[in-house]
Amino acid sequence: MTEEETKNPPVGGPKATLASAQQNSSTPAPRRGEPDERKYATRAPRRPRFGDRRRPKPVVRQIKVLRRDNEGSPEDHARAGATSGLKIIHFGGLGEIGKNNMVAIQYNDEIILIDGGLGFPRQNMPGIDFSIPNVGYLAGKENMVLAWFFSHGHLDHIGAVPFIQNKVGDPDVYAAPLTKALLLKRMEEFKDRKPLDIEEFKAGEEVSVGKHFKVKAHRISHSIPDDLLFEIKTPVGTIVHTYDYKMDRDPVNDQPANLEELKALGDKGVLLFMGDSTGAEKDGHSLSESAVTHDLEKLMSEATGLTIIGCFASALNRVQQVVTIAERLGKKVVFDGYSMKNNVEIAKRLGYIKIQRGTQISLEEVASCPREKLIAIVTGAQGESNAALMRIANGEHRFIHPIANDTYIFSSSIIPGNESEIQFVKDQLYRNGAKVFNYQMLDVHASGHGDKEDIRELLKIIRPKFLMPVHGQYSMMVNHGQIAQEEGMPKENIIIADNGNITHIEANRWWLDKERAPADPVYVDGLGIGDIGNVVLRDRQMLSEDGFLVVVVKVERSTGKVSGSPDIISRGFIYLKDNKELLMQMRKKVRFIVDNNTGQGKDINGTYLKDELRNQIGLFLFQKTERRPMVLPVLIEV
Ligand SMILES: [Zn+2]
Ligand SMILES: [Zn+2]
Repeated sequence: MTEEETKNPPVGGPKATLASAQQNSSTPAPRRGEPDERKYATRAPRRPRFGDRRRPKPVVRQIKVLRRDNEGSPEDHARAGATSGLKIIHFGGLGEIGKNNMVAIQYNDEIILIDGGLGFPRQNMPGIDFSIPNVGYLAGKENMVLAWFFSHGHLDHIGAVPFIQNKVGDPDVYAAPLTKALLLKRMEEFKDRKPLDIEEFKAGEEVSVGKHFKVKAHRISHSIPDDLLFEIKTPVGTIVHTYDYKMDRDPVNDQPANLEELKALGDKGVLLFMGDSTGAEKDGHSLSESAVTHDLEKLMSEATGLTIIGCFASALNRVQQVVTIAERLGKKVVFDGYSMKNNVEIAKRLGYIKIQRGTQISLEEVASCPREKLIAIVTGAQGESNAALMRIANGEHRFIHPIANDTYIFSSSIIPGNESEIQFVKDQLYRNGAKVFNYQMLDVHASGHGDKEDIRELLKIIRPKFLMPVHGQYSMMVNHGQIAQEEGMPKENIIIADNGNITHIEANRWWLDKERAPADPVYVDGLGIGDIGNVVLRDRQMLSEDGFLVVVVKVERSTGKVSGSPDIISRGFIYLKDNKELLMQMRKKVRFIVDNNTGQGKDINGTYLKDELRNQIGLFLFQKTERRPMVLPVLIEV
């Protein structure tokens, strides 16, 4: 996309009208020897636009904040200007679930960071691989960044590190052993990046950071081992921060959180609590991981054919659980899926997953193992089209071939947006005569995130003065605040912030800075980081709907007449070879537009002429086809 095209959005829609109107009204007087654009501007006829006759053109949905609250007073700003004090800035993860989690905690000129996660694109973002947090706030402050802590090894918490590592200065990096190993594995996929030096930081350990911070790690339960809650001592008071957690009394493959220790923390007084909001709209306690054992074991023991369990490669506690059950039943396990195999190997090496000798077999050994004795643990429970589960369902897997009466267990939740893909695999499996089970039928999955009562329980233990809900859609964060209010927290102590808000925290009050840190999500597409903005995204959406059309016209400089026949090239619009009549009319139209606007002593005004071609050809094509391809005129003066 060139600069020129960005400034002149494609034809149609109110935005384009507005843009060209503004452009015209502000057109300056020409310098000598240049065409007077003003005369065209005043002469340009007003013609009805066709945009509103049809469904609205695609827009890149953007968050709008109409509410403004708790902006500091002038005195606040003056005070903060002098000392700066304690500030919290989220670079991602607020108002969006499972995405771009990252927060900066700043005291004067010292900054600590927690996590650096990626997000997967929504369906209306063609070509985007994923998004990463916007670390623009740190530009020019790199030398203030002293430490970077990681809560756990899931991609929405560590996945963006290779892309933002060079923008955060040179902090000391701290992570628990499994998180560290997964982070190093992630870095390995990006060989050209600076190697990451990570210090192991386990539950119970504490480090001093700079002059102002002390950070202590506490154990908390999630779907992966080594999940940490951070206690951060600052000169203003203690901050407790936990991303993903559940209050699991009886976790699998992990010890429960040390509630006594957390209570003691609450007793000492907590100024601010930041916590996961994922489950804030679900009543009750989320299921304990061990509650899943019963139903999984029942299905696995009753299976008369192959058992295939689809789950997240990152749900390592679930993997351990299935392995343990398989061993009790005397069955074998095989793993498939790139990330599943990687994660299992890492967790085995570090002792987080324990598999008895002889239990695990390789894919090559599948053929020689009796079907009823085999459990395959694979990726693809979200219906991903090239994951192991889909390949098995389609009969395209090299080693695992489906037959009737195999048992499929979807041991994961459905991520919103994936419903139709999951349904597709499910139907495919039913077509093969398989038995299919998911968490809506039986307890074969427990969420890694606490529901309302888990959230309430932790709030009652921590008893913070201020609450800032994190890690959730906006509605979930508000509901998290609602739970705190039910427990007696005054509404004004609940901070519902947006990404990029700079929140000042003082001993008795909080307020939002008038300044905002950059918060637009940064998109990664192939090798490009952050070079895809909303303009490019909108173009991609338009292209994906109606394609494009290039009109190449040669204009004779001396006469202003079209030379030869205009060239018309299209992709994704209509097949021109089958539409000779339309093609002919279009050429005639192009010639008419050009001849009408040039010649007889008129100068050739390229910008204006291109606008005219774009608008009129766009209108013409819409009248003929009710489609709106992107029209790209190219003028060649000969
Ligand atoms: Zn998360
Ligand atoms: Zn997680």
